[in-house]
Amino acid sequence: MLNQNCRTPYIMHRLLFLVLAQLLTTGTCDTNPDPEHKEKHEGNMFVPWTYEDQDWSKDYELCNGNSQSPINIDTDETILNKKLPSITLEGYNLSETEQLDLSNDGHTVKLSLPDSMSISHGFTQKYLATQLHFHWGSGATSGSEHTVDGFQYAAEMHIVHFAAKYGHLNKAALKADGIAVLGVLFQIGAEDNKNYDHIFDKLQDIAEEGANVHIPGFDINMLLPNQLYRFFRYNGSFTTPPCFQSVTWTVFNETVQISQAQLDKLETSLKTGHGMLDSNFRHAQPLNRRTVFASFSSLTSSRRIVPKENSVKLDEDDKSVDGNHFTLGDTLAVIFGTLFGCTVLAFVIYLLKQRKRQRSNTERGQKVIYKPAATMEA
Ligand SMILES: [Zn+2]
Repeated sequence: MLNQNCRTPYIMHRLLFLVLAQLLTTGTCDTNPDPEHKEKHEGNMFVPWTYEDQDWSKDYELCNGNSQSPINIDTDETILNKKLPSITLEGYNLSETEQLDLSNDGHTVKLSLPDSMSISHGFTQKYLATQLHFHWGSGATSGSEHTVDGFQYAAEMHIVHFAAKYGHLNKAALKADGIAVLGVLFQIGAEDNKNYDHIFDKLQDIAEEGANVHIPGFDINMLLPNQLYRFFRYNGSFTTPPCFQSVTWTVFNETVQISQAQLDKLETSLKTGHGMLDSNFRHAQPLNRRTVFASFSSLTSSRRIVPKENSVKLDEDDKSVDGNHFTLGDTLAVIFGTLFGCTVLAFVIYLLKQRKRQRSNTERGQKVIYKPAATMEA
């Protein structure tokens, strides 16, 4: 994310280096830092980077920070927080008269979004949309950035928002609570997902790095899963240099399905200055001491398809937010289990006593039988 959005063709990129720098300082590029930030990062701000060599911290120190993204979400370690509010979106149904810029910036395909779109509920503050983009693999590899229990999904979409109170993405990107990204994981289904045709059908028009087209607005809600109340939440970073650690991540549990043909289109339509634009995903970063929260405790009503070995783990995910890993259900299970055990034990003891008494009675009975004989003898 926060990819360089300057639409300069790759070949021109280096020749127009100074022009680009000028553009950045005048606020036309997504990576434009505020003046304070420019001071700190001058000299390495525009160093080209690639997904082939992800040792980005050589040039971008923050990429080696303690709160980097993406991560592997280990569902055994997530903490249930039922107080996390559902995500409510406003202004996502865009009019056809709205013109959106779709571009190939050499790192991804990016769709610009108007700041009339927002996350109105779900955080303690309002976040305004700025762009969405994708991460994908190649024919041989999957391409999601976040993985769940080690499972990498086919691709991933990020919808980037910045805190309204900071007024601009570039200022917000430097603040701990500045950015909110919604992450959507993709799986392959049998049918084309027509909602994505607005974007995927235009990919051939932006094949070259730096190319862009305008597409009419459409209902961006349709790109999202249905269940906006089931998600993972953690604090992390942009997944591209300069890796600012200012992102509150919301990764939806429910995946979105696209067809294999659509995925193929995403993986094979775009080029960079070096070759195909594919496998544009960053590898999972260390979690360190961060907590990943889950807004839900089981997947029973989820439409998410997970590998069988993962679904078992996910269904066991039922932990409380205060670090006490026992929920009410767990506690009741322990109480009833203990009571049941005690009852069985008491019953066994009762049976043993009964048997002993019967044996004793039998022995006494046998004596009774013999007594009359004795009496007769007497
Ligand atoms: Zn991204």
